[in-house]
Amino acid sequence: MSQASAKQPGRAASGAGQLERKLQRLGLHEPADFVVHLPIRYEDETRIVPIGQAVPGRTVQVEGEVVYSEVQLRPRRQLVAAIGDGTGRLYLRWLHFYPNQRRQVEAGNRIRVRGEVRQGFSGPEIVHPRVTKAGEPLPDALTPVYPTTEGLSQPVLRRRVQQALQQADLSESLPQSLCESLSLPTFEQAIRTLHAPPAGLSVQDLVERGHPAWRRIKFDELLAQQLALALARRQRRAQRAQPLAAADAELLHRLRASLPFTLTAAQEKVIAEISADLARNYPMHRLLQGDVGSGKTIVAAFAAAQAIASGRQVAIMAPTEILAEQHFSKLAGWLLPLGLRVEWLTGSLTPKQRRLALEAVGSGQADLVIGTQALIQDKVQFSRLGLVILDEQHRFGVAQRLELNRKGDEPELVGNPRMPHQLNMSATPIPRTLAMTFFADLDVSVIDELPPGRSPVITKLVSEARREEVLSLVHREICEGRQAYWVCPLVEESEALQLQTAVDTHAALSSAFPDMSVGLMHGRMPTAEKQQVMDAFRKGEVKLLVATTVIEVGVDVPNACLMIIEHAERFGLAQLHQLRGRVGRGSKQSVCVLMYQGPLSAIARERLKAMYETTDGFEIARRDLELRGPGEFLGMRQSGQELLRYADLQADTTIVEQARDAAAVLMRDHPDHVRRHLQRWMRGRQDLLRS
Ligand code: ADP
Ligand code: MG
Repeated sequence: MSQASAKQPGRAASGAGQLERKLQRLGLHEPADFVVHLPIRYEDETRIVPIGQAVPGRTVQVEGEVVYSEVQLRPRRQLVAAIGDGTGRLYLRWLHFYPNQRRQVEAGNRIRVRGEVRQGFSGPEIVHPRVTKAGEPLPDALTPVYPTTEGLSQPVLRRRVQQALQQADLSESLPQSLCESLSLPTFEQAIRTLHAPPAGLSVQDLVERGHPAWRRIKFDELLAQQLALALARRQRRAQRAQPLAAADAELLHRLRASLPFTLTAAQEKVIAEISADLARNYPMHRLLQGDVGSGKTIVAAFAAAQAIASGRQVAIMAPTEILAEQHFSKLAGWLLPLGLRVEWLTGSLTPKQRRLALEAVGSGQADLVIGTQALIQDKVQFSRLGLVILDEQHRFGVAQRLELNRKGDEPELVGNPRMPHQLNMSATPIPRTLAMTFFADLDVSVIDELPPGRSPVITKLVSEARREEVLSLVHREICEGRQAYWVCPLVEESEALQLQTAVDTHAALSSAFPDMSVGLMHGRMPTAEKQQVMDAFRKGEVKLLVATTVIEVGVDVPNACLMIIEHAERFGLAQLHQLRGRVGRGSKQSVCVLMYQGPLSAIARERLKAMYETTDGFEIARRDLELRGPGEFLGMRQSGQELLRYADLQADTTIVEQARDAAAVLMRDHPDHVRRHLQRWMRGRQDLLRS
C-alpha cells in the first residue's frame, strides 16, 4: 500500500511531511535518535521450518506447494488455501483479499508463508499470512520489531534505522578499561547486535534483555542518569551561598534548654550534619528522612535557629494548610519564647493579614515564615533569605529537581544574590537502590530511632461484621479521657462520593455517641473551618475526629491514641502507614483498628498482613515496593525511571550499582568521556544540564 502511494508524486510529498511528523512523535529527529531506538522484539525469518512443526501458538516461516485454493462463499466470502511439503499441511485464510493475493496462491505455486499458527476447522491454519515467493534468499539476521506509532510501518522504520546506523557516530563513549572490567561489548557492537542480531542468537535472551548487548545499553543509560545527577551536584557546589556558621550561638543553647524532652541520639546526629552543611559557602541540598513520629520538626527548628542566629531569614513550606498550620503552632511554641518573629502565610489569609505578613517578610522583621507552596508561587520578597525547608517533599522527581538546579535558584525566593540552603524532609523511606538513583544529587540524613517511651502501636484487623465492638472500644477510650480518629473509607472514583461518605459517617457516629463531641474534617472544607476543628481536637474539646485522608500527613495530637480506619482494604500500604503514624505519639499505648470488608484481593490481604506484622517504616516501604514495583511506589517521576527507557531500577539492581561506581570514576578521571556519554544519552534533555 505504501509503495502504491509513493508512486504518485503529489501524495508522496505530503506523505513525507507526515512521515517526519510521525517519526518526531517517537522522538526520532536525527540519526543519533534512531540509533538508540531499540527493538521491542524480533521475528526469526532466518529459518524455514517443516510444515509438520507448524503447531498452534507458534509463529513460523514455512515453504510448500499450494495444494488447494478456493474462494469460499459460506459462511462468508473468504479465500482459503492450503500448502504442503511432505511433512504436513497448513491452511491459509484471508477474510479480505485482493486479486493479486488470490493469484499468489494458485494451486501448484511454491510459496513462502509466515505468521502465527492457530487451530482451524480442518487443521492448523494461519489467518492473513505474509506470502512471498519460495526459494528467495533468507536474511542472516533476526528481523527487529520497533516501537512505533499508528501509520508508521515496520519496514519504513527499519529502513530509517539502517540509514541512521551508517550516518551516526557510533564511536565509543566509555574508556576501554571500563568496558573490559565489566565485560561489556562496545557501544557499536551492542547497537549493531540489537538492531540486527545474527541468526542463531536466542530470541528469548534478546527479548528478556539478558544479552550482553542489552546489558551494555542499560548500563549506558543508568550511567548517563548518574552522570547527570553528579553534574548537578557539582554545579550546586559551584554556586555560592551565605555560610550560616552560628552553630554555637546562644539562641541554639536556649532552644535546647527550653525543650521539654531530650533529643534522641539520631536527632543529635542529623542536627550536627545539617549544621555543618549550613556553615559551607555552597548551598546545602540535604534530604532528612525519618519515619513518621521520629521528630523531624524539632530538627527543622534547630536548622532554622542556626540560620536566624546567622542573621538570615528562613522559609518553611508544607504541602497542605493543615500541616503548615501545625508547624506554625509547634515552631512558634518553641521559637516565640526566644524572641523570634514567626509569620504565617497561606492562601487563606485575609488581604490585610496577608499584606502585613508580606511586609514583615520583605522588611526583614520576620525571622521565620511558615506556609504552603503558595509561599513560592506568590513571589514573596524576602530581604535576607538563607534557608528553605520543604516538609514531606517526596513529590519531586529527578528531572524536576535537576531542572530546579538548572534554573540556579527559585527566583521568587531570592532575597539576596546568593542561593539559599535547602533542607528537604520526608517520611517516605526509600529502599537503597531507589535512593541511589533518586537521591544521587542530594546528601541524605536519616533519623533511625524513635523518641523513647513510645510503645509501638498495636494494630488490629477487624472484620466489618464486628463494627459494634469497634464502636464500644471507641466509647470506652473516650470515656477514659483519650481521643480518637475515625478515618472514612476511601472512594477513589468520585470526590463527591468521598465527601458524602465523610458527611454520612460523621452523622452516623454523632448519633451513635450523642454524649460526646464528634468533629468532621475533609479536604473540601474551607481552611478556616479545618483549622477550627483541628484546634478543638488538639485542645481536647472534640473527642472523636471523623476525617478523610487529609489527616494523613503530619497531624500531631499526642492524646489521640486510637485510630479506626474503615475499609482499610482500599488504602495503599504507604497511606495506611502514614495514617497509623497519627497515633502512638504520646506515651500511652495506642491502637490502630483496620476494619476491612471481605472478600479481600490477594494484594489487599498482603497489605493488611504487612500492617499487622510491622510498624517499621523501612520494612513497610520494602514490602510496598515488592507489591507495587518502583514506578508506582514512588510515582513514575519520583522513581527516576523517567529518564530511563531500557533499564529497570528494580530488576537491574546490579547494573545500577555498577553505573554508580563508574560515574564516580568518570567524573574524576575522564571528563571527555562524561561529555560524550551525556551527549549521546541525554539528547533532547541537554536542557537539564547546564555546561
Ligand atoms: P515527624 O518526624 O513525623 O514530623 P514530629 O516532628 O511531628 O515527627 O514529632 C512527633 C512528636 O514527637 C512531636 O510531638 C514531637 O514534639 C515529639 N518529639 C520529637 N522529638 C522528641 C524527643 N526527642 N523526645 C520526645 N518527644 C519528641
Ligand atoms: Mg512531620
